[in-house]
Amino acid sequence: MVTSSNKTKQNYGPDPVSVRATDQYRAEYVHAFVQKWDSLIDWDARIESEGSFFIDKLRERGTRQVLDVATGTGFHSVRLLEAGFEVVSADGSAEMLARAFSNARSRGHLLRTVQADWRWLNRDVHQKFDAIICLGNSFTHLFSENDRRKALAEFYAALRHNGILVLDQRNYDALLDHGFSSKHIYYYCGNDVSVKPVHVDDGLARFEYRFSDNDVYHLNMFPLRNSYTTRLMREVGFQRIETFGDFQETRRENDPDFFVHIAEKA
Ligand code: SAM
Repeated sequence: MVTSSNKTKQNYGPDPVSVRATDQYRAEYVHAFVQKWDSLIDWDARIESEGSFFIDKLRERGTRQVLDVATGTGFHSVRLLEAGFEVVSADGSAEMLARAFSNARSRGHLLRTVQADWRWLNRDVHQKFDAIICLGNSFTHLFSENDRRKALAEFYAALRHNGILVLDQRNYDALLDHGFSSKHIYYYCGNDVSVKPVHVDDGLARFEYRFSDNDVYHLNMFPLRNSYTTRLMREVGFQRIETFGDFQETRRENDPDFFVHIAEKA
């Protein structure tokens, strides 16, 4: 819930690395951070780096209707609308959805938005989809295995019988296995922000987002191992899972920064 007191400041209390709760995401995306999110993920540069990877993958499977469960500020929802897909845009954060709606509006689109937490997705979304996308390293916000299983089961249930789930994640294996160093300072597509891990253990990756005006925000995330995510998907019922590294057709030899999993329901 966003209140006037948490509009500008994140509040992790006296011991930020002890904050490991799924519900934290709403408090993390405070108004001021959401306003800055689009400079973090400069839309034009992101289009350039992703290319048509997601659009191609969806078209290959004859997808028409897509549910974006982690809409954020609307980047993928708008791209898919512009590519001709029917899109419903969901997110658990009202702040994010408001920003997505106005971003889409300024590009001449009316987003169909639903505020929904993944753990109870089908309570708020009453339609079945050909594809669900959960992108931008969003699944990492879930802090208990129970919540991860619940969310995946809700995604599974919201898909048509031959539907697909497209879910990406940061390559946490590299971070967990080799520790973090300056090599892990990520410069997002937006030029005016640097992103680096400030704490990593088996249960938490805490990242710092430093903007050029010296505004600093953090996100506490669960470091998902690649094989763990795909195991959970299988256990929930997904039949075939293909994993890509950094939007490439095959996994790159050297460690990619991100993995994209495409999981088939049937
Ligand atoms: N997909 C967007 C992008 O790539 O720019 C946004 C990514 S942002 C890192 C993660 C998004 O997931 C946020 O908008 C957040 O509100 C949403 N989110 C996190 N946990 C959620 C949950 N349990 N239910 C619904 N939305 C959630």
